[in-house]
Amino acid sequence: MRLVLLGPPGSGKGTQATRLKEHLNIAHISTGDLLRAEVAAGTELGKQAKAVMDAGNLVSDDILLGMLESRLGQADVANGFILDGYPRNVAQANALDAVLAKIGQPLDAVVQLDVPSELLVERIAGRAQEQGRADDNPESVRKRLQVYTDQTAPVVDFYAGRGTLARVDGVGELADVEARIQAALKR
Ligand code: ADP
Repeated sequence: MRLVLLGPPGSGKGTQATRLKEHLNIAHISTGDLLRAEVAAGTELGKQAKAVMDAGNLVSDDILLGMLESRLGQADVANGFILDGYPRNVAQANALDAVLAKIGQPLDAVVQLDVPSELLVERIAGRAQEQGRADDNPESVRKRLQVYTDQTAPVVDFYAGRGTLARVDGVGELADVEARIQAALKR
């Protein structure tokens, strides 16, 4: 199973991807986690990315594509993957198509998690207290939601236009949301 999970910041992509990884026995590829690992390791790439991430902006498409290609080359991806946080704009969606075509592993499904914006802000505020992520401050959150509307919402339309998109209600118990995703994948 090769899956893209779309949804705004705070929609629960990471949480649901972690559950799906366990239950479907596939790799979880979170571009946010990959970038945070670079920042934590103090690499050149991490140094470049940190300020951009903290401000809530998108890191360059080139950096993301390089990271993604190298991650897709790792052995655990052979059984399938969930992409969480990529693609975030239409250029990335086209790049993903090209990369997956090259390795002969096209997507099986694209799932969009729907969560109302009031709830997103509330959830991120809760996460900020628990995890202390540098980009979970109010200004950056506002920016990330704006970036989502401007750049990532068109990606939803991109997949909807192809008929590969499933929309899932992302509000409720974690297990219920996961069951909805699993049901959408069987359709
Ligand atoms: P969230 O969905 O809560 O914003 P992520 O962990 O997915 O959290 O992303 C955190 C940050 O990492 C983003 O705001 C952005 O700066 C950077 N990032 C992650 N994925 C991408 C991507 N595909 N393209 C550009 N930047 C990205």
